[in-house]
Amino acid sequence: MTSPTASPATGLEIGGWFKEKLYKDVRQTYRVTDVLFHERSEHQDVVIFETPVYGRVLALDNIVQVTEKDEFVYHEMLTHVPILAHGKAPDILIIGGGDGGILRECLRHKSVKRVTMVEIDRYVVDMCLKHMPSIPQKAFSDKRTNLVITDGAKFVAETKDRYDVIIVDSTDPVGPGEVLFTEEFYRNCKRSLKPGGILTNQNGVPFMQADEVTMTYRRRKKSFKDSGFYVAAIPSYYGGFMALGWASDNTKARAVPLATIKKRFQAAKLKTKYYTPEIHVGCFGLPAFVQQHIR
Ligand code: SAM
Repeated sequence: MTSPTASPATGLEIGGWFKEKLYKDVRQTYRVTDVLFHERSEHQDVVIFETPVYGRVLALDNIVQVTEKDEFVYHEMLTHVPILAHGKAPDILIIGGGDGGILRECLRHKSVKRVTMVEIDRYVVDMCLKHMPSIPQKAFSDKRTNLVITDGAKFVAETKDRYDVIIVDSTDPVGPGEVLFTEEFYRNCKRSLKPGGILTNQNGVPFMQADEVTMTYRRRKKSFKDSGFYVAAIPSYYGGFMALGWASDNTKARAVPLATIKKRFQAAKLKTKYYTPEIHVGCFGLPAFVQQHIR
């Protein structure tokens, strides 16, 4: 890993405030009680800081990515919903996911035999392992883990491997993450899935980023028979619940009956803090204001 050039800490002082810059006219701020790390990698500005309410927080290019206190919501929902809906997913591909939370949750399934994780920035992996170990835990040293440091769009365009589930745990469609929201990327994900495979992705907060719902719905629809969303409430993702993108040629995968999900959940022997079979079935029910953007 080439050592990144340090960038001056953008006014992140202990006792001061971290101002998230995701939206033009809305700011979310966190009191900073310690700055564990702050440098620019070859891809993005990487900062890990301590807060009284959320514990340690990772931000990339001033956008909050993950916090110690509420990471379980997002990581459980982006992982267990597709894996338990699929029912038999030994081969998984993660695109992004540098903090290791998605990888950790995938590996909790004994039925998962291999997880390939394609992360563009080694720096994020190394710094989360060092400063936020509660998130990756031992996931990166699990013998089923295959970590590839490259651009996820390039990887799916070239890979000859096939997967049962692809989970895109990316940053927002700005900077390095932009290529992970294109029609071509979704087409290559479709090619990389085994028949009946499922793709899920981080799709923004519809109350603030409704255009991303419409944009990704249309782009995924070109490659998949079924394209939709499900929702989860992640406190640190400002603006209400987050939409998680869904795509599959298995048009029944989104509507697996509760009794079946319960059986699979019990068989997987998972202890979860947010995901339940009832939430699995319920999270596909979308409010009208979100439905109207799916067109
Ligand atoms: N949970 C967060 C969210 O919802 O925004 C995402 C967390 S994870 C840290 C996002 C990861 O995507 C980062 O580690 C970033 O380096 C990675 N990433 C961004 N663009 C990428 C690309 N083109 N290929 C692979 N990884 C990418």
